[in-house]
Parts: sequence; structure tokens; C-alpha cells
Amino acid sequence: MVSIYLSSDPVLFGIVTFSFFLLGLCLGSFSSAVGYRACHGESWIFGDKKTEAARSKCPQCGHQLGFFDLIPLLSWIFLGGTCRYCKAKVGVLYPFLELVSGCVMGGYFFFLSGEAHPLVNSFLFAVFLPFVVASVVAVVKCRGRYPVSLGIMGLLSAAGMVGLSAVF
Ligand SMILES: [Zn+2]
Repeated sequence: MVSIYLSSDPVLFGIVTFSFFLLGLCLGSFSSAVGYRACHGESWIFGDKKTEAARSKCPQCGHQLGFFDLIPLLSWIFLGGTCRYCKAKVGVLYPFLELVSGCVMGGYFFFLSGEAHPLVNSFLFAVFLPFVVASVVAVVKCRGRYPVSLGIMGLLSAAGMVGLSAVF
């Protein structure tokens, strides 16, 4: 039903495609942080503190990053690829991965999600995408040492995909 409605309405199709692009940006941002933290032996959610969910920090000056420092892609562009606080360069890897992740997610919905269940297929894909992005960061940042915790994340996301596709 939804898919027939989607494909017959180009505006709606465009809006949903763009929404998946935005979802991909956010997933890319989140999973880059996960990959970075896994490499540094930190908890995915809590960072190097063990008590409360940590906001991301600048790896150079350690300043906690605020909401406007963490908007995928846009923060990097508007801050000119530097930290707002210490002006240290922020590598192009993160915005690049965010953009790629956004394009892959939007492109997946647009081209590959299929006629029958495009929304379901795209959400299943969204379960797996963070693992791929986190793995790329880990491979680049860990210099040959792949964190075990990310392997577990891969198994969990594969299990999540299989479980969800059984439900739908
Ligand atoms: Zn800084």
C-alpha cells in the first residue's frame, strides 16, 4: 500500500528520499563517534566517563562539544573544518563519512529498496549501515587493530536485520 502510494507521488517520494538522506547523515555522525570511541577503548555511549552519557569532545582540547558543534556536515562546513574552541583542524574523514552515509542511505531508498517494501527495506539497511561506517573509522584510526566490540556490533546489527525482516 505504502509503496504504491510512494511511487505514484513524486513529491512524497522526494521528501522520503531526503528524509533517508538526513537519517544517513545522523547515522554517519553517530557511528563515526562509535568507531572513534571503540578504537580508544571507550564505551560507545558513555565515552571515557562511566557514569553519564558523554557528549563528544574535541580530541585536541578536550572541550565538550555543544549541540551546534555536532550537526552532521553543517557544523564542519560552518566552522571551516576546525574546533570552535581551540581552532584545531577537524579531519575531513568525519564530514566525508557523514555525507557518504547520507547519500548511501538516500540512494538505497531511491534506487534499491524495491517496489514491494521500500520503507521496511530501507529501515533494515539503516540498522546495518552504522556498523559499516564505524568499521571504516576503526580501520583508519586503529591502525590495524580492529576493536572486538565492533565485531559484536556487527553481529548484533546482522541479528537485528534478520530478526526485523522475520517480523515484517
Ligand atoms: Zn578543540
